[in-house]
Amino acid sequence: MVSGMVVSIVVPVYNEQQVLAPFFARLHAVLRCLPQPYEVIFVDDGSQDATFESLLALRAKDRSVKIIRLARNFGHQVAISAGLERSRGEYVAVMDGDLQDPPEVLPAMLGQLQQGYDIAYGVRSIRKDEGWLKRSTSFLFYRLLRWVAEIPIPKDAGDFCMMRKTVVDALNRLPERNRFLRGLRSWFGFKQIGVPYQRALRTEGRTKFTLGRMFRFSLDGIISFSIAPLRLASYLGFLSALVSFFGILVMLYVRLGTTHSIPGFASITIIVLFLGGVQLMTVGLLGEYIGRVYDEVKQRPLYVASEKIGWESIESEESPALSAVHSLQSTATSKQ
Ligand code: UDP
Ligand code: MG
Repeated sequence: MVSGMVVSIVVPVYNEQQVLAPFFARLHAVLRCLPQPYEVIFVDDGSQDATFESLLALRAKDRSVKIIRLARNFGHQVAISAGLERSRGEYVAVMDGDLQDPPEVLPAMLGQLQQGYDIAYGVRSIRKDEGWLKRSTSFLFYRLLRWVAEIPIPKDAGDFCMMRKTVVDALNRLPERNRFLRGLRSWFGFKQIGVPYQRALRTEGRTKFTLGRMFRFSLDGIISFSIAPLRLASYLGFLSALVSFFGILVMLYVRLGTTHSIPGFASITIIVLFLGGVQLMTVGLLGEYIGRVYDEVKQRPLYVASEKIGWESIESEESPALSAVHSLQSTATSKQ
């Protein structure tokens, strides 16, 4: 454990070469005014552009910058987890590197932690940047999640937050691969408070979250915190059994009690198609859960890091086995 390291900032970045320098300038202006020493851990999530080189340039100017380079794009949540694992601060913040999470909010979050809270999370008061589709889907998602999840997950709160070391340690101990961090953070039940902020426009670069990726991310969130979708199959089953029971009674009456005959083709087609659709949907939902169970049992590592820069000086304090691995990695790095 390194003494004196008090604030860590974890920043996942993926193809953000244009925005890194202005982002760091603004972050640095804020951190400089804090009384505590700090470290800024950038996690390069397999960028294909010059993000890594820009990060090296930042580190050349400021030694508080540390860099983890993931071997490929592992996704936002995994990148954050990689940074959290290596953070050493007593207080650890997570923020996006695209200036949508304003660094100026960090002192307010730190203030809340020093008041005794364990987690201070950002609550988006206005989302100017997104179109109505993203705004309305995210509005609906947070309400749906709150409704089906077994724990109260704060509404309109993203990953932007600052946490005490105890929370970070608890997060690091979670073995699961499918990490919906904003939910896991609440799941522990630590003392937490929302800090409102205005989410800014993305000025440079573009969002990595297409509509399809957002949909998968939302599904991850719901599935890791609720089994309500699994129950849907039973509810729909009961409902169609009930409806068909009355349907049978009506048909028996018409056939035996009256002289009418029931014309069949259209109604049968509709019923078969409807039930087929319901069955496929519920089997699909089952598949979503089974796929995630499969992911968990494979027990693959969460990520593979190709480079870790900035930890050389502290390796000697780790276990001999670990420091052997790390010194191998740092020789590889210094050869570049
Ligand atoms: N990001 C990442 N890996 C990814 C996608 C995104 O590390 O696979 C980073 C990205 O560089 C940014 C943050 O995560 O710093 C949020 O991503 P983005 O701005 O695309 O999401 P949005 O703000 O549009 O929801
Ligand atoms: Mg963004």
